[in-house]
Amino acid sequence: MATVLLIEDDQRIRELVASRLAGHGFAVRTAEAGLQGLESLLADPPDVVVLDLGLPDIDGVDLLRMIRTGHDLPIVVATARDDEAEIVGVLDAGADDYVVKPFSAEHLAARLRAVLRRSGGTAEAGLLVVGELEIDPAGRVAILAGSQLDLTRREFDLLEHLARNAGTVVSRADLLAQVWNQPYGGSDKTIDVHLSWLRRKLGETADNPRYLHTVRGVGVKLAPPE
Ligand code: CA
Repeated sequence: MATVLLIEDDQRIRELVASRLAGHGFAVRTAEAGLQGLESLLADPPDVVVLDLGLPDIDGVDLLRMIRTGHDLPIVVATARDDEAEIVGVLDAGADDYVVKPFSAEHLAARLRAVLRRSGGTAEAGLLVVGELEIDPAGRVAILAGSQLDLTRREFDLLEHLARNAGTVVSRADLLAQVWNQPYGGSDKTIDVHLSWLRRKLGETADNPRYLHTVRGVGVKLAPPE
């Protein structure tokens, strides 16, 4: 899970954005002023910073430069001022990307994932998302609607493989080859048992599937609920 430091003085925006980003699988820390944000950053560098330019105690662009002198972590600037000259200046000062207020949390989350992917330094890089299900292959963490799933190694491998092929039916032969490393076939029973455990942990049943769909005689498909 990637850690976001949100530096924003407007309490309403700060709380709303923090809770929405948490819902998108980010671990969020907040600061309500620039120097407080800088202290938090120095004490424990996050994976990415969201920086409001209009702060009460310090100019956002100055703060951006201060962070940049010692850190190359990705910074996304939030600005209320839709001013092209300013945005160019902000990018020149070292911002990786920007959002213009008002922005949606979904939009910001997408921008954060993109800068994290480009920076390549965190587990967020290869995040697989299927509906409310988020799977982080590097960190081996699966989150459903904000709650972490308690999966065994094999269940995680199975879920990850299905998520990499989300929306398409994966054959049993393919599962045996890719998840169980049995390219020449094996017991269907093994697959059935693990699927039923995984299904239970996803909080669903074979009769009322949400994410995990068994296609009789063909294979299994992971897809977001209708
Ligand atoms: Ca502000």
